[in-house]
Amino acid sequence: MGRRLLVLLLGAASLLLAQGTFALSAPHEPKVMYLTFDDGPNPLFTPIVFRILEEYGARATFFPTGQTLRVFWDDEEVQDLLDRGHAVGSHSWTHSELPTLTPEDLEDALVRANGTLQRRTGFTPTCLRPPYGLTDQAVERTLERMNLTLVGWDADPAEWSNPPVEEALAHIEKWERDGMVILFHDRKWQTLEILRAVLEEYGQEGWTFAPLPECLRGGSMAARQQTRSSGDGPIGGLEVLQFDAVGGEQVLGGWAYDADSPEGGLEIFLNLDGEPTAYGRTGADHRFEVRVPAGTPGPVCLWAGNSGRQREDAFLGCHSGRRG
Ligand SMILES: [Zn+2]
Repeated sequence: MGRRLLVLLLGAASLLLAQGTFALSAPHEPKVMYLTFDDGPNPLFTPIVFRILEEYGARATFFPTGQTLRVFWDDEEVQDLLDRGHAVGSHSWTHSELPTLTPEDLEDALVRANGTLQRRTGFTPTCLRPPYGLTDQAVERTLERMNLTLVGWDADPAEWSNPPVEEALAHIEKWERDGMVILFHDRKWQTLEILRAVLEEYGQEGWTFAPLPECLRGGSMAARQQTRSSGDGPIGGLEVLQFDAVGGEQVLGGWAYDADSPEGGLEIFLNLDGEPTAYGRTGADHRFEVRVPAGTPGPVCLWAGNSGRQREDAFLGCHSGRRG
């Protein structure tokens, strides 16, 4: 059913989060794109989405419905999503049109979805993508009370309807802006083709692909550390601390944690000039700081080495080498 039709059916009280007009708070970072995937997880497509994102050093935000999450993914798979540097938010429990629900049903749809996410991730979600982008004042008041930030989108290429890749790219280009949010769904083959084309085209132009900061708040270092035990792989995240506009040097900071190394000291690697380079180690507070010289060809990607029995590293994210 088209979204225009839904608005008519729901009447004037409902507000559609229309493309290009959404009032939500994706920061306008230069050349940063926020890819989002709704309605998952899908046992076939979500792992392929992960692999494609990683080929391009991209991170994204996933909005599974609580019910789908409960059926298809256990704790391990959700922790894997977080370990890959992606963010996760709520898409309600059953994908209902939120403005049509009674206050009790609305509360139930949000509380149940939060509960499942909380059990899988170890923290309470901090953002919600309303199904169909439909919201109204009552929904927004409830979200505010539950500390859930409403997340809309700038571009909806409707890839679930299998448009040709060129058509989807043209749509995204039309809504292009710094900090743009793209709506995708991790449940269709054509999404994979379109995703790859976006990463290729925008990646070549120097864009980076980051998780939505609103959705990362709950995944703080302390909250995520609680979910790790001995033998688990390391986890972490990347922040940009400073950008020297005159000299062009960037200071990248972040954290990395391995339960097998509670005193810190995890090795941090980055790709300088296309080569993996050991840079230094995390401190006792599990934080690190990396100085990237001016003129370093971007994007610069960072990893934390594993100190435990398993051999995988933690991907911390990439930065384009530009301000932001
Ligand atoms: Zn949806």
